Amino acid sequence: MAGPTAGARVLWAVRALIRDHPDVFSQPPPVDIHIGRADPNPHRLGASFSYGGAELYGTRVMVWIERGALVGPFGLNDAELRSFLGHELLHAYQYRFGPYEPSTPEFFRREIEAYRWELDHMSQAVRPFYRGEAELQLELFESLLETAHEPPPPETGGGY
Ligand SMILES: [Zn+2]
Repeated sequence: MAGPTAGARVLWAVRALIRDHPDVFSQPPPVDIHIGRADPNPHRLGASFSYGGAELYGTRVMVWIERGALVGPFGLNDAELRSFLGHELLHAYQYRFGPYEPSTPEFFRREIEAYRWELDHMSQAVRPFYRGEAELQLELFESLLETAHEPPPPETGGGY
């Protein structure tokens, strides 16, 4: 007997997140969110090493999931998939505050919030490698924020 399809697993995970955390994932969501497979876009270099992401396109947030997150040797189990999608949904909701620039304090703060939430809500069924990676990422973004400088105020002109 075949197991549930990848699409069904994603749907169950998202439904469970919305059901169990209505305070975080309020309905209707504050932004237009679409969830789907990643496009096999050769220009998105580097993304093949991640499970997916959440990006703002105009007024719409696309949460995308890499194929490797769902099937194959690095495929996530249901608990991990749910944890990962919780992280990305949180990013989707963060876009209600607008876009951000990469490698800025705002970017670090959003990652810290997402990883803290993920670690606070991780099920026992999440395997050690997945938890360890989240802990490592949280530490990394916390130290990046500590050493980051806020962007300089707009030019007031007149000086050198
Ligand atoms: Zn993130």
